[in-house]
Amino acid sequence: MSTLPEEAAALADMVQRFATRDIAPHVAQWDEAGEFPRPLYAQAASLGLLGLGYPEHLGGTPATWRMRNAMTQAFCRHGASGGVFASLFSHNIGLPPVLNHGSEALQQEVIPPVLRGEQIAALGITEPGGGSDVAALRTTARRDGGEWVIDGEKVFITSGLRADWITLAVRTGESGSKGSGGISMVVVPGDAKGLSRSPLQKMGWWCSDTAHLRFDSLRVPARYLLGDEGGGFKIIMGNFNGERLAIAVAALGFAQACYDEALDWARQRKTFGAALVNHQVVRHKLVDMQMRMASTQVWCDALADRADAGDQSPDWVAAVCMLKNHATQTMQFCADQAVQILGGMGYMRGTRAERMYREVKVLMVGGGSEEIMKELAAKQLGI
Ligand SMILES: Cc1cc2nc3c(=O)[nH]c(=O)nc-3n(C[C@H](O)[C@H](O)[C@H](O)COP(=O)(O)OP(=O)(O)OC[C@H]3O[C@@H](n4cnc5c(N)ncnc54)[C@H](O)[C@@H]3O)c2cc1C
Repeated sequence: MSTLPEEAAALADMVQRFATRDIAPHVAQWDEAGEFPRPLYAQAASLGLLGLGYPEHLGGTPATWRMRNAMTQAFCRHGASGGVFASLFSHNIGLPPVLNHGSEALQQEVIPPVLRGEQIAALGITEPGGGSDVAALRTTARRDGGEWVIDGEKVFITSGLRADWITLAVRTGESGSKGSGGISMVVVPGDAKGLSRSPLQKMGWWCSDTAHLRFDSLRVPARYLLGDEGGGFKIIMGNFNGERLAIAVAALGFAQACYDEALDWARQRKTFGAALVNHQVVRHKLVDMQMRMASTQVWCDALADRADAGDQSPDWVAAVCMLKNHATQTMQFCADQAVQILGGMGYMRGTRAERMYREVKVLMVGGGSEEIMKELAAKQLGI
């Protein structure tokens, strides 16, 4: 499938070994428990996975998108858990705004402990009133001397319960101001007074921590603001591009997890005197899965190469939106076909197919829903 450069192939091999040994055998049990063990962060950090793509002076390892995608794809294919992927790597949506727009002192305070796996970072954009229409968010931050005073709510926040740092979208405009111009980004420490958190039950991603957050007159120092006051909308939109590319690659990895399990099953299971794979209809299902995975792979690689070459053009942004839809539809198709090939076993808890079938919808909604992806692509393409 992917023609990986040597370095990326070596990284993917290492991640495959880690995910096969330390993630996959435990996922069903972690899902039932509703969480995965905290030491997994330190373990992933010690392998360099949490710091991939971050500067050395903050404890990371600079890496191209191609390298990061190799890691993501191998982790998702062989770990086969969106819940572990989402929470273990939530810093990849929480930290980039700090890295790109925080002061040097703030970067030093927040980023290294997270990359060492000692602390956890999350991103808080979505509110009970809506997630797609980011410009309509209502959580406020009011300046009071040397502090911001935050009031409001966020919902569906990944790593929300455990997070030591929450990169938060707030409205700092004049009281009553509307639209994207009044939005800012600020960092909130998890132990700040005035923060309350409650867990949410979900269709999938059971072992991932997803929370409802409330902010009641919560105070943070003024220096925790990221970028300019009122410049938050642009930061959020820039951050989404990376998140969407990563979601597409993860969806491809999960599609492959479905294919791997379905192929194994089809080779072993016998009906009417022959292995399932020897029935033409079953074989064709597997080929249909391959066809969709192959097109997704080529597109993921091409957009990663464009990103690595510095392309952030409207055409690239539109392509990322369309790729997110294509990749998650590929995963949906593969999960559906895998459950069908496994038959009754595909409906049983503990199979990859069953887990992926429950987990695909969040990837089609989170980080920008299918409908919003199409709207954004249309706008970028001038349609
Ligand atoms: C498990 C999970 C984890 C998440 N983690 C995070 C996180 O860490 N941080 C975070 O900030 N958010 C997170 N989210 C939130 C996620 O990004 C939002 O759910 C998503 O952006 C959609 O927002 P919404 O749910 O408010 O739907 P809404 O915005 O209310 O939309 C509902 C439906 O209407 C459609 N719709 C909306 N507007 C239009 C339109 N103009 N035209 C056509 N259709 C439209 C949408 O596509 C969607 O299908 C998470 C969600 C889940 C489920």
